[in-house]
Amino acid sequence: MSVALPRVWRTARRTHGFAESVIRTMTRVSDECGAINLSQGFPDFSPPDELLAGSVDAIRGGVNQYAITWGSANIREALAAKIYEWYHMDVCPRENLTVACGATEAMAAVLLAIVDPGDEVVVMEPFYENYGPDTEICGAKPVYAPLSPGTWDIDFERLEAAFSPKTRAVIVNTPNNPSGRVFGRSALERIAELCHRYDAYAITDEIYEHILYDGLEHVPMATLPGMAERTITLSGASKTFSVTGWRIGWIIANRDVSSAVRKVHDFLTVGAPAPLQEGVAAGLRLLPPDYYTDLSAEYEARRDLLYPALVEAGFKAARPEGAYYVLADFSGLSDQPDDQFALWLAREVGVTPVPGSSFFSSPDSGRHLVRFAFCKTEGMLRQAVERLSAVGSLL
Ligand code: GLN
Repeated sequence: MSVALPRVWRTARRTHGFAESVIRTMTRVSDECGAINLSQGFPDFSPPDELLAGSVDAIRGGVNQYAITWGSANIREALAAKIYEWYHMDVCPRENLTVACGATEAMAAVLLAIVDPGDEVVVMEPFYENYGPDTEICGAKPVYAPLSPGTWDIDFERLEAAFSPKTRAVIVNTPNNPSGRVFGRSALERIAELCHRYDAYAITDEIYEHILYDGLEHVPMATLPGMAERTITLSGASKTFSVTGWRIGWIIANRDVSSAVRKVHDFLTVGAPAPLQEGVAAGLRLLPPDYYTDLSAEYEARRDLLYPALVEAGFKAARPEGAYYVLADFSGLSDQPDDQFALWLAREVGVTPVPGSSFFSSPDSGRHLVRFAFCKTEGMLRQAVERLSAVGSLL
């Protein structure tokens, strides 16, 4: 007797190369195992009251319909003031700012607005896993430039080799997910020089701009000489204010790029959640400068809990300078591939990381790596550290 096979429904070719996000998958795996979830980077603590009150007041006060598609005037004005205060960047809230549904939508909208099919986008790797698929959605080609393995310094020879006359943009993420590196002024100047030489945009993902350690400072690419117009700066509220579920991000760009981005954003989403924009605006206006320095200090304490414990347990890793991840080499502990090792850690040790291969174009480059996120309360991290101390004896 023949068994009818289920019909395979046709889907667009552009989706066929995409894998499900491994970061998001690991959160599900972690929940299933009842493990401590150090995979997907979201905090397990509350956002500041100023933001909560701002959003609740907005909802109760009637802000429940669409905001202006590119962001309410209130949040754009609050952003322009904060960006000037921090970086002395002159950003016009009417012309240069667009509010999007998180930095994730921001990146997709920017690429759709500036990249044509056949163009190339330079992506340094390891990378945050959306950049490649975002580029491919545009029909463009991501060209990968590996950072130096282990230290995750920029390898300028390889970066330069990735540029070509077809390069439309380079994506720069500092502080960096997943490596924890912070790229300082001199590294950014060398990237800027390549952008000038190849007439390319720098698209900077600065979502971790307020999470830096050891006194390091964040340098926005747009503040470098000649880069204000050529840089498209992305950031958002998710990490700075611990509101990853609110999906409020923003884009700073020159007038022409902003106008193209706003059209794409409008057709994609109409707009980011209106009352939550008001909550973020309240946070931007009401939180004092100390809030931001305390945020870094609190994360530094979390780093100083997890990082030495990983080294003690036998992992090798560069100490994070910013953002909230440790990219750890486990080859001294196990020769399992990264996905099996990550599953083993979740099931047997009770701590879930992300397999390292999801941050590389060629999975082999990350087979010996896993990424741990430390955006968790001290109690949760202490428990994770205790569990990780048993890794050697369980293998
Ligand atoms: N940026 C976070 C991470 O890298 C969350 C990613 C996501 O799921 N959107 O884990």
